[in-house]
Amino acid sequence: MAKPRKTSTDALPAESPAGELISMEEAIERLKTTRPTFARWLKSGKIRGHKIGRQWRFYPKDIDAFLKGQPVEAELPADIGPLLEQIRAFYERIRRAQVPPIEGRNVASATNHMLLLSVEAKASDLHLEAMLQAGSSEPVGLLRIRIDGELQTVAQFDRRLLHPLVDRWKLMANLDLNDRRKPKHNRIELVVKQSPLDIRVSVTPTAFGECLVACFLDSTQLTFDLDKMRFHAADLERIHAALKRPAGLIVVTGPRGSGKTTVLYALLQRLAGPGAKTVTLEDPVSVSIPWALQTPVHPETPFAESVRALLRCAPNHLMLAQLPNTETAMLAVDAALTGHLVLAAMYTDEASGVMARLCDIGVPPMHVAETVKLVIAQRLIRVLCPRCRKPAEPAEDLKRRAEEAYSRCVPDAAGLTWNYHEPVGCPDCAQTGFRGRVLIAETLEVSERIATAIRRGRPAHELREIAIQQGMTTFVADGVVRAAAGETTLEEVLRFAPPE
Ligand SMILES: [Zn+2]
Repeated sequence: MAKPRKTSTDALPAESPAGELISMEEAIERLKTTRPTFARWLKSGKIRGHKIGRQWRFYPKDIDAFLKGQPVEAELPADIGPLLEQIRAFYERIRRAQVPPIEGRNVASATNHMLLLSVEAKASDLHLEAMLQAGSSEPVGLLRIRIDGELQTVAQFDRRLLHPLVDRWKLMANLDLNDRRKPKHNRIELVVKQSPLDIRVSVTPTAFGECLVACFLDSTQLTFDLDKMRFHAADLERIHAALKRPAGLIVVTGPRGSGKTTVLYALLQRLAGPGAKTVTLEDPVSVSIPWALQTPVHPETPFAESVRALLRCAPNHLMLAQLPNTETAMLAVDAALTGHLVLAAMYTDEASGVMARLCDIGVPPMHVAETVKLVIAQRLIRVLCPRCRKPAEPAEDLKRRAEEAYSRCVPDAAGLTWNYHEPVGCPDCAQTGFRGRVLIAETLEVSERIATAIRRGRPAHELREIAIQQGMTTFVADGVVRAAAGETTLEEVLRFAPPE
C-alpha cells in the first residue's frame, strides 16, 4: 500500500512529548544516507519533518519509524475517532463474530475498516461525500454503503476529514492527488480476506469538496449461469430458443439497478465460444467473459462509430450495453436484419414497451416486427433473511392488489397458497430483515400475432395483452408467487407494479 504523501509543515507544539528535535544533518547521519536521497524522501512525504523558520527539524521517533518502514501519520484536521467508532458500531450490527480491532487513529486504518466492513456486509458500493442534512446549514461528511440495493449510513463525520479520506483512496487508485477540479476514475485490485476484490473508484468534485464512490466487484461470487437465475421454466425455454437463432434482436430491459448487466452476461456466456465471434460494447467492461471480445466505450468516439467498427470485425454475436440514440438503434436493427444475433439493453418499464420505444425513435415498425425476437424485462427484489423472518398475515389491500396482478396472468387466483412472512432484523442481515436479492422477470416472445400487431402500429398495452394471452407471466405476478411463498414481501414486489 502506498504511504500518504503529505508532509507536515505545521508549527511545532510548544511542549513536545516526542523528544528533542534533531537537525537534518543528524537525521541523515541516523539514516546513513546521502543528502539528495534524504531530500527526495522528505519531498515525497516518506519522512515527516517540521519547518522551523527556514530550517528543517525532525523528531527521532519519525526517523526511527521510517527506518522500520512504518507509514507516516499525517496530521488530520479533525479527530477521526468518532468515525472509527461508528464504523466499529456498524460492524457489530452486522456481525455475530468478533469485531476486528481497529489499530491506529488514522486515515489508513479508517480506509481499511471501510473496506473490511463493505466486504463483510456484502455491499455493492461505498460512498464518501459531504452534504447538507435537513435542518442544518453546515454540510457533514457521510460514509454510506449499499447493501442489497439500499444505501445505509455507516457514519457521519467532520467534513474536514473528507479530503484526507478521499486522498487515501486516490493514492490507492493511483489518481492525481493535486487535482481536485476534474472528475477521475480508475480500478484497483486488492485481496481482502483472502479473496480478490476488484474495485472501481470514481472521484467527482462537488460543491462541498470531492466525493468518492467505490464499486466492488467480487468476481468469485458472481454467477452468470442462466439456469441458476431462477427464471420460470417457460421463460427459460423461450430464452434458450431465442439464443439458438442465427440472427435477430434480444432486448433486456429495466431501469438502472434491475440486473440487466447480470442477465446480459448470462446470455453472453451461453453464446460465446470457440466456434463463434462474439463482440461487445460496454460502459465499462465490468466482468470478463471467456471467448467474448469485450470493448469499453471510448469517451471520444461516438457510440455509433464504435458499433460500426465492431460490425467490421465480422461477428456472429454483438452485445450492446445500451442503445443511446436512434442511429445506434438503427445499426442494431440493421445488424439483426443482416444475419447477426444482437443483444441489447434498454430502459423501459416492461417488456412490451421496447417495441413502442424502438418505433418512437424512428425504427420502421416493419423492421421492429422482423428483428425483435425476445424481450426480457426484470427487477431485482430483496429476499427476506431466512434467519429472522417471521410468519405474518399480509395486509388486506396489498393482498387484494397482489391477487389482482396475479389473476391477470393466471385466471385462477385461488391457486395461490399463502405462507407469508415479514422482515424482522438480525446481525446476519445488518438488521434490515433482508438478505440478498433475486430476479423477477417476464419474457415476451414476438409471436406471429404480436409481429402483426407491431406492423400495424398497435400500442404497447395491446402487445402486452396478447403476450399474456399467449402465456407470459408478468414480473409482478412472478414476484407475487415469491411473496406468497414467504421469500419476500408484497411491498417489495408491488413497488414495481405498473400504475393501475
Ligand atoms: Zn436477519
